[in-house]
Amino acid sequence: MNADQDLFERARKVIPGGVSSPVRAFGSVGGAPVFVSRASGPYIVGADGVEYVDLVCSWGPALLGHAHPEVVEAVRGAAGRGLSFGAPTEAEVELAEAIRSRVPAAELVRFVSTGTEATMTAVRLARGATGRDIIVKFAGCYHGHSDALLAAAGSGVATQGLPGSAGVTAAAAADTIVVGYNDPTALDAVFERMGDRIAAVITEAAPANMGVVPPSAGFNALIRELTARHGALMILDEVLTGFRVGPAGWLGLEGGYRPDLITFGKVVGGGMPLAALGGRADLLGMLAPLGPVYQAGTLSGNPLATAAGLATLRLADDAVYEHVNRRSAELQSAVGEALSRAGVPHVVQNAGNLFSVFFRAEPVRTYDDAKDQDTAAFARFFHSMLDSGIALPPSAFEAWFLSAAHDDRAMARITDALPQAARAAAD
Ligand code: PLP
Repeated sequence: MNADQDLFERARKVIPGGVSSPVRAFGSVGGAPVFVSRASGPYIVGADGVEYVDLVCSWGPALLGHAHPEVVEAVRGAAGRGLSFGAPTEAEVELAEAIRSRVPAAELVRFVSTGTEATMTAVRLARGATGRDIIVKFAGCYHGHSDALLAAAGSGVATQGLPGSAGVTAAAAADTIVVGYNDPTALDAVFERMGDRIAAVITEAAPANMGVVPPSAGFNALIRELTARHGALMILDEVLTGFRVGPAGWLGLEGGYRPDLITFGKVVGGGMPLAALGGRADLLGMLAPLGPVYQAGTLSGNPLATAAGLATLRLADDAVYEHVNRRSAELQSAVGEALSRAGVPHVVQNAGNLFSVFFRAEPVRTYDDAKDQDTAAFARFFHSMLDSGIALPPSAFEAWFLSAAHDDRAMARITDALPQAARAAAD
């Protein structure tokens, strides 16, 4: 048994499933997860000291690569000045200004610690501001694990929300309506039926939690148009895409509409626990202490997290995005070529520099499409890559993440490993 397996056994005795977040447990690919001992640039190192090229990048935050010296230095400096104050700081103001200068639709910004909190707060604020109860979300879109947003069941036109997890009461999910993604007719129908009861539509700016399924042309603009027409709000969830697909996130790439509320996470905290809710000043002004919608957090705007976020945004210049975009395009073609050569049915889909590989022949536009793929082939592909020292996300439903630190050497290691993994997938 290797050190990772040893640790996994030990972990399972004290931590449910041995992990602090489910997908880390390798449940859908089997085997023991890599227990990371340290990480630097494009590499992570397992418990045995084995180095892997990392294509998870902490599920998004590590845009600059792991442990970027200037980000680490900023955190070190902040740590020396105190770990947590429970009081406002100048760095929070600077970070809010940095966010607003990149994303003008974020007129005011409230900091929280996780993406889950950001979307949960957005939902509460939308209900408080509109005086309505119903939230519309799309099947296959993930917005964190708050009760109202776990509902994901449903196909066809619109399905009354079913709890997406044990422990979510029917009441908590009853006001969530799930609509098929990229389905304008279904969305229209929901607004026809109950438009005056809808508080908000929440959508991933470009979904990447069912694999990468970009919005079809005009879909986000349609959400904007329908919500505006019916007095509902549009919540654009940029927790994953924000500051990763470009300096102003997906909104900056797509443009042409302005959401009421936007959620940020991941890159905005530079690898530390920090997320944010931004949006229209009149709406954010309804949050406590200014207004009646309550939201708070002991560690919100934590100085170490704020320092990491600020350093990351300052370093994330055009050259960083050009690099990540180029590496992403290279890897997309290399994976596609290797799988084609091995005769493995696949589609590579992208939204900006985010991409994922579906093990099926036809393009994926909906959650149902995404679920209809050969996940066993992915598991074989995944393990072959891991054996060759490449750490992919351990699920066929996750995006692959690159960073500014993925250099020629790291890319060569990945492309060298692909042919064998493609053959394993074909077996
Ligand atoms: N929203 C989106 C689009 C996400 O991808 C995630 C996490 O992956 C979240 C919200 C939840 O963020 P967190 O895991 O920080 O709670």
